[in-house]
Amino acid sequence: MKWRGISTSNYSQRFQNLFLKEAFFEAFAGKMDMPVLGMLTTLGWLNNKAAGYPLGGSLEFSRAMERRYMGLGGEIAYQSRVVKILVEKDRAVGVRLADGSEHRADWVISAADGHTTIFEMLDGKYADKKIRGYYENLPLFEPLIYVGLGVNGTFNDFPSSVGGLNFPLAETVPLGGKEVNRLGVTIYNFDPSLAPPGQTTLKVMFPVNYDWWKTLAQDPARYRAERNGSWTWWWLFSTGAFRAWRPRWRCVTWPPR
Ligand SMILES: Cc1cc2nc3c(=O)[nH]c(=O)nc-3n(C[C@H](O)[C@H](O)[C@H](O)COP(=O)(O)OP(=O)(O)OC[C@H]3O[C@@H](n4cnc5c(N)ncnc54)[C@H](O)[C@@H]3O)c2cc1C
Repeated sequence: MKWRGISTSNYSQRFQNLFLKEAFFEAFAGKMDMPVLGMLTTLGWLNNKAAGYPLGGSLEFSRAMERRYMGLGGEIAYQSRVVKILVEKDRAVGVRLADGSEHRADWVISAADGHTTIFEMLDGKYADKKIRGYYENLPLFEPLIYVGLGVNGTFNDFPSSVGGLNFPLAETVPLGGKEVNRLGVTIYNFDPSLAPPGQTTLKVMFPVNYDWWKTLAQDPARYRAERNGSWTWWWLFSTGAFRAWRPRWRCVTWPPR
């Protein structure tokens, strides 16, 4: 368990080789530092082929479970917001939905996020000091900008990487209150179900400053312009390593210049 107490950013500094040092830092510590144990677990799963990417993405994965569950006679009520978990004698016995209807059950299992479940559905009545401590003290994951692009073109000559490729930019770009000097791109050339033939889905994700966006939101027109990818996006995509790619792209789902 010694790997639990060592962070990936510290671990990456042990490499003598500058490329490995940077590669390990960017792959496992760039967005948020985590214990080396997390990195080893992920690599172990990949090595054992016990983790991977389901073709069709998470929706197809969920649909497969839905088909199986419904095939066994299960029922699903979509678009049904739970406002309260009904509790009797400290035992969950059902739920109340936003439309006021109540549904009783032998077992109630919440798959919603912990904060909503503990502090809203259960009114915080079952949160002890330890649980409150998690929500009050643990660091939050950095907010991310997430851009999905549909691009006219294939990327068969690029390596398939579910984790994405990571490029250093030729110049630092100010974006969303941060200085961006690398760009991570996932090219879904390994999942033909995500785009029509000859086209490819791309995903770009990078950390931003939440307060910067919150302040910008006070000016809705500027906020929308920035969010919808005005000049900044083009600047970013025409920078550094991306410049070489751009001539063969024509964006098919994204606002053009
Ligand atoms: C940008 C981003 C990228 C990520 N990338 C990865 C990745 O590459 N690999 C990876 O393994 N993980 C990744 N994750 C994490 C992963 O998505 C989550 O850990 C996972 O989705 C959690 O699944 P879940 O079912 O517990 O919760 P969720 O997927 O959050 O599902 C909870 C569901 O509960 C519903 N819900 C909430 N409140 C109520 C209510 N009151 N009534 C009814 N329904 C309610 C929500 O609508 C939601 O559908 C990423 C997360 C984000 C945000």
